[in-house]
Amino acid sequence: MEKQFPILIAEDDPVSRLLLEKTLVKAGYEVASVTNGREALESFSKKFYPIVLTDWMMPEMDGLQLCNAIRKNISTGYVFIFLLTARGSTDDMVAGLEAGADDYLTKPFNRAELIARLKTATRILDLEKSLKDANEEIRILSITDPLTKCYNRTYMDEQLPKELKRAIRYNHPISLVMIDIDHFKRVNDTYGHQAGDEILKELVRSINRSIRSDVDWVARYGGEEFLVVFPETDFKRAEALAERLRRAISQKIVQFKEEEIRITASFGVSGFTSSTSLKEISHETMIGLADKSLYQAKEEGRNRVIGRAIDG
Ligand code: GH3
Ligand code: MG
Ligand code: MG
Ligand code: MG
Repeated sequence: MEKQFPILIAEDDPVSRLLLEKTLVKAGYEVASVTNGREALESFSKKFYPIVLTDWMMPEMDGLQLCNAIRKNISTGYVFIFLLTARGSTDDMVAGLEAGADDYLTKPFNRAELIARLKTATRILDLEKSLKDANEEIRILSITDPLTKCYNRTYMDEQLPKELKRAIRYNHPISLVMIDIDHFKRVNDTYGHQAGDEILKELVRSINRSIRSDVDWVARYGGEEFLVVFPETDFKRAEALAERLRRAISQKIVQFKEEEIRITASFGVSGFTSSTSLKEISHETMIGLADKSLYQAKEEGRNRVIGRAIDG
């Protein structure tokens, strides 16, 4: 059996309201009811109702105003609105639909017609939900690196500037750690690309184990380069976290078929402690500093952490 969406009734006439309630409850719907548009709108702050049956003429806020208000203020999901009216004129019906109602029912309502129209509403809401789910899936795919399942460059480009802006606005610290596997080409050449892929996945698992899953995040910056973003983390702490991760990676043995593979990685850190006088710093600058440090780590012999603090 298809799922039934909860219904909110807004109707000032007690007899009419009770009749609606009874009919819908009998048909198996979960129903809540209020006596005007304002109360209906308030109900949405406690619970989301995908279906609203609203009377037209009501005190405080009428049905048309409620339609407008729902369309303007409720963004949780689509609300299918029925306007109940005793009026019969085409002009009124058009006004209702223009105010945002999806359908209308004339009073006194016919039971069978009401139930049939609710089924239509349910079909449309089901369709809306599957579209939303599909969009969400596409969105996730579009920001995920298919191999390692961490974020990709697209996500990084859209999220990092936001994180940085927030840090600066609230004068909070933020740090970046750029990670590049050492001599990775050699790993591929020696053990094959599949082994290389396995190592990339294992590296991301190691990173994920060492970061706070709710605030820190990691993105694949390039082939075997990853950027970890540490919000609310000052430079010194990020450097220490990078060092701990570096050691963990260097001690790890990745088993691939018969082979036991060890890797190391180099780290470039950039970050600031507070952003008092950093009104202008861009994410490009921060990435640039992490990158420069990473390059230096490579130059100095790899398997090490080099950092550059930004003084605020
Ligand atoms: P360095 O220590 O200077 O970083 O040396 P490196 O060999 O790691 O650096 P280089 O940039 O020369 O090579 C990077 C290698 O990473 C080359 C490329 O084939 C490999 N690579 C990039 N993406 C992937 C991938 O998705 N899977 C596998 N297996 N290898 C990849
Ligand atoms: Mg009324
Ligand atoms: Mg590289
Ligand atoms: Mg490398």
